[in-house]
Amino acid sequence: MSNASNKPFFITTPVYYVNGKPHIGHAYTTIAADVVARFQKGSGREIFFSVGTDEHGAKIAAKAKESEKDPQVFVDEISEEFKKLWGKLHIQYSSFIRTTNPKHIAAVQKVLQTLSDTGAIYKGFYEGLYCVGCEQFKTADDLVDGKCPDHNSVPELMKEESYLMKMTELQPELTKKIKNDELAVRPERYKKEILSFLEGEKLEDISISRKNVSWGIPLPFDKTHTTYVWVDAFLNYLTVFGWDGDEKNVPKEWPADVQFIGKDILRVHATIWPVILMHLGIPVQKTLFTHGHILSGGKKMSKTLGNVIAIDDLLERFGVDGTRYLLLSAGPFGEDVDVTVERLTEKYNADLANGLGNLVSRVVKLASNLQSTTYRQQQGGEEYPEDLKKLLSGYKLSEALQYIWKKVAEANRYIDETKPWELVTTNQAEFETVMQKLLGDIAFIASWIEPFMPETAEKIKQALQERKTVPLFERI
Ligand SMILES: [Zn+2]
Repeated sequence: MSNASNKPFFITTPVYYVNGKPHIGHAYTTIAADVVARFQKGSGREIFFSVGTDEHGAKIAAKAKESEKDPQVFVDEISEEFKKLWGKLHIQYSSFIRTTNPKHIAAVQKVLQTLSDTGAIYKGFYEGLYCVGCEQFKTADDLVDGKCPDHNSVPELMKEESYLMKMTELQPELTKKIKNDELAVRPERYKKEILSFLEGEKLEDISISRKNVSWGIPLPFDKTHTTYVWVDAFLNYLTVFGWDGDEKNVPKEWPADVQFIGKDILRVHATIWPVILMHLGIPVQKTLFTHGHILSGGKKMSKTLGNVIAIDDLLERFGVDGTRYLLLSAGPFGEDVDVTVERLTEKYNADLANGLGNLVSRVVKLASNLQSTTYRQQQGGEEYPEDLKKLLSGYKLSEALQYIWKKVAEANRYIDETKPWELVTTNQAEFETVMQKLLGDIAFIASWIEPFMPETAEKIKQALQERKTVPLFERI
């Protein structure tokens, strides 16, 4: 076992369900995780950043059938779409795990066997309201007017022979772990939400298998059942390291330092997942960070409303770094954020074309008047100020961008006030001083934005080095 200080920083996104192509929500979580991974790496920490796709379940089998494809062919294609998008968005993940990977399947079966051997899994019946869309049994509290709010459909009442996993007996211990932050659920209000759920309701043992779902991992001790898709999916966070499913061989990167999830999957990630770990005697994840949804014009994006913003359209309009910036600056990470193409365009022009772009091009152009001996590359741009570090370590990503853009605005104001284009003829010494400060500011800004906008950071550093001005962002 390695000690905590040299354990790599391990960050995860969920494995995305491949029942459809990647959308803006997937991109949002993954860009955020990429920013954090790059920040940790830039701060000298070894990191592991996992992404992947969740590929089993009745819903996927149905989708494959709809498009007249073999399920494996279907999931291969969609999984590839995710990979391609991460490439386009410059996501620097460490590993991409697929739940149809044979090693993953073998590890899941090993875990199920262990849980069955120790009595954590037992045979019984399960009856409940099941939403096929969510692949989850629902409680009365989850429903709005008797319907699943996410799918606007009435769940089916189902009773079937099933294997159950013990949850109730571990409820007090789980509640304690969340209360004392051994499993830190963040932001704070999601901790409150999950605790009030745990303190108000008995955690029922859950069905972990389905009969009649062939597109899944068969239980090793009863092949007529396949694994409930969540149990299969959660284990990706360990199998991404090639783990064999033996609780004695847990990868050194575990526990995850932070798992990013959308609020719709908070409940399962804060109950079923840690309970599986507890049954296995494996430490629970350290932090579960929950973010909100991306709304458009105040409403959930939907084809019927016609307010869907496609990630590829954003990329085409704003470029990679523009898209990364605009999504993460749209609102606090953790809350619902509301975007429209009009507002994003305004922000692009204000913050990127006029703000950062204008600053860099003005300074680099003015710097061509410096005597070559005094135009040296600014050093020391690697360090983050404490305030910014604190924001980034606490996943306050939009606040971190605000902090940086305040510096951009200050630097632009400083140019307007000091008028270096006049100083160059009237006061050469003063001109040198002003320019050194501005060049230093830009060097710092370039390294601070690197996690968010890696390509732009690189372009600024090059412009400083080669003394060639570049239009970073064209007004649109
Ligand atoms: Zn549903």
